[in-house]
Amino acid sequence: MQPRDLSAHAPYVPGRGTEEVARELGMDPEDLTKLSSNENPHGPSPKAVAAIEDAAPTVSVYPKTAHTDLTERLADKWGLEAEQVWVSPGADGSIDYLTRAMLEPDDRILEPSPGFSYYSMSARYHHGDAAQYEVSKGDDFDQTADLVLDAYDGERMVYLTTPHNPTGSVLPRDELVELAESVEDHTLLVVDEAYGEFAEEPSAIDLLSEYDNIAVLRTFSKAYGLAGLRIGYACVPEAWADAYARVNTPFAASEVACRAALAALDDEEHVEKSVESARWSRAYLREHLDAPTWESEGNFVLVEVGDATAVTEAAQREGVIVRDCGSFGLPECIRVSCGTEAQTKRAVDVLNRIVSEVPPA
Ligand code: PMP
Repeated sequence: MQPRDLSAHAPYVPGRGTEEVARELGMDPEDLTKLSSNENPHGPSPKAVAAIEDAAPTVSVYPKTAHTDLTERLADKWGLEAEQVWVSPGADGSIDYLTRAMLEPDDRILEPSPGFSYYSMSARYHHGDAAQYEVSKGDDFDQTADLVLDAYDGERMVYLTTPHNPTGSVLPRDELVELAESVEDHTLLVVDEAYGEFAEEPSAIDLLSEYDNIAVLRTFSKAYGLAGLRIGYACVPEAWADAYARVNTPFAASEVACRAALAALDDEEHVEKSVESARWSRAYLREHLDAPTWESEGNFVLVEVGDATAVTEAAQREGVIVRDCGSFGLPECIRVSCGTEAQTKRAVDVLNRIVSEVPPA
């Protein structure tokens, strides 16, 4: 017995975890600074923590009301119909739901390269395929409509990541509008705003009232600090929003996650603090790292270090975990997530020392 041919399915490579690295190096996890997965260094909102505790005794029951409440709350926040908000386990879950709703076998998606690997993974799980447009270092990872349209060949879904992981660049709104007006009628533009809160650019969600070929992804994993709970959502065009009932995995967004997300939405102060802190950290990283960096609108900064694997390993030995961007196709770069003030300063000290010692690749 064998599963189907999975040779085209590249495994997802996550940022390394604190426990994992601590065990490997025989270190105390407390001594490690983890800046490899773009998480919120301030943790979840205390209100979300209280909601999680309050929800604990209720988890013997399937989540229904909490899911409805969160959907309605988000619809209200963004001025949408409740049907247009597809709550999911992380934005990853929304990627799957959109793929299920859109792709027939052998349909293709178009995605950025480098880029977030789950777009093509999800397409392949659903018997589709993926093509890429290049967001190139030579152009400082600038994103434009032309760049996408040059590679576009009528794909069913086109992913636009703004801010873009792992570079931090954004797709300006007028470029998105140009794309919405240029692609063929059957193409859905999926605007991934997983890092949207950290950007100066406003969300594209309001464009859903004007264009019926745009969906927007959002998550509670980053600015809201709920990555471990797996809760996110897609905002989709009204015309086919009822497809959710046919494609979603029943009860995949848990009671605890929905309750925590609702509480997190009520704690604007925590989100504002998290965003402010990330903006400070990314500016500090860019100003103080002795290596080329790129302007970032996310909660991370891409840094060119020469031999990313050597630098990542050396930093790890000194207790700072960063992301080697080899798996993104950028073996000369690392991605450093925005930490607290102390974490950011520690990362800069450690990385500057290492970069001056590790020979270029
Ligand atoms: N999109 C992008 C660009 C991401 O970087 C991530 C997470 N790293 C996601 C979506 C998925 O986030 P989550 O499933 O945690 O909501």
